[in-house]
Amino acid sequence: VACTAVAAALISTGGCADGTGTAAAPVPDRGTVGLAMPTKSSERWIGDGENMVRQFELLGYRTDMQYADDDVQKQVEQIDEMVDNKVRALVIGAIDGTALKAVLAKAAAADIPVIAYDRLIRDSGDVDYYATFDNYKVGVQQGGAIVEALKLRDGEGSYNLELFAGSPDDNNATFFFNGAMSVLKPYISSGRLEVRSGETTFTEVATMRWDAAVAQKRMERLLRGDYGQARVDAVLSPYDGISRGILTALEADGYGSKGRKLPVLTGQDAELDSVKLIAAGKQTETVYKDTRELAKVAVQMTNALLIDEKPMINDTEQYHNGVEVVPTFLLQPVNVDLSNYERVLVDGGYYTAAQVRS
Ligand code: BGC
Repeated sequence: VACTAVAAALISTGGCADGTGTAAAPVPDRGTVGLAMPTKSSERWIGDGENMVRQFELLGYRTDMQYADDDVQKQVEQIDEMVDNKVRALVIGAIDGTALKAVLAKAAAADIPVIAYDRLIRDSGDVDYYATFDNYKVGVQQGGAIVEALKLRDGEGSYNLELFAGSPDDNNATFFFNGAMSVLKPYISSGRLEVRSGETTFTEVATMRWDAAVAQKRMERLLRGDYGQARVDAVLSPYDGISRGILTALEADGYGSKGRKLPVLTGQDAELDSVKLIAAGKQTETVYKDTRELAKVAVQMTNALLIDEKPMINDTEQYHNGVEVVPTFLLQPVNVDLSNYERVLVDGGYYTAAQVRS
């Protein structure tokens, strides 16, 4: 990795490992940071991890990165071992946001600071900082995409909508859902949008562990039980993987062929497979969250803590974890659809044109 001016500026003592940069001294060995990540089953978490490792290394830290395969107990054990190995700090993308209280108490007793990465860690007083995207706004963008695509603001018609939410043990899932419902509820109340299944509460529509197969089964059940001759006009989906599961169920039911239009379908993360579906007109929208930026924020937070500086934050209100408000840095999500995916994702360097077209 080239040592850029930015990286050099991030390093408060010493220059770049290759001898370039602002100062002459080599990058110091600053010890190891533990990175506990949830799963490799979704692209975004792989990118998150790689980006953090790269940026920590530029600052002179080594990393111990572990993925827990969406297994809560495994993640607890991985973190426990990092604490035993005396990592200098922990950056955690939690699986179950409520399951880490005991292991974080152990980390606190060993003076190891904890940064919640992307997902808030709940029910613990030992979470020092939180780096994430504006999760409520993600939902507002998803709900807004449905309003926009069905032209609900100006048109007259009424439409059938079904709702999906993310994993009930992930704090973000409620934020996404509440954000989306803040936009959709008025139309549901006025009858412009009808949820034929009647399943409208978070608990009814949540998808355990963000599992595409679970969502696909639920969509199949809804199509079988509640639609008959009626058609689904829109589906709120919180995440690209779930959207692909929903799409599989819809296509198996005949949507997308013989003149049966696919419904409006939202998503999140701008996963490559879903960006291709947007290009092909099968998925309407996704919410792009530049994980390179999130990694940068989390690394800067951790570094600041370790060199006794104050990490930069921009929110001290929204994220109460059940014990305390966790000081947070919020990044801005970006709404992506057919009209802007090339400009945002390809021109922005997230994907190459060849990747999107392949
Ligand atoms: C993340 C989303 C992601 C989801 C499933 C959430 O916590 O914020 O970006 O789509 O988990 O991995």
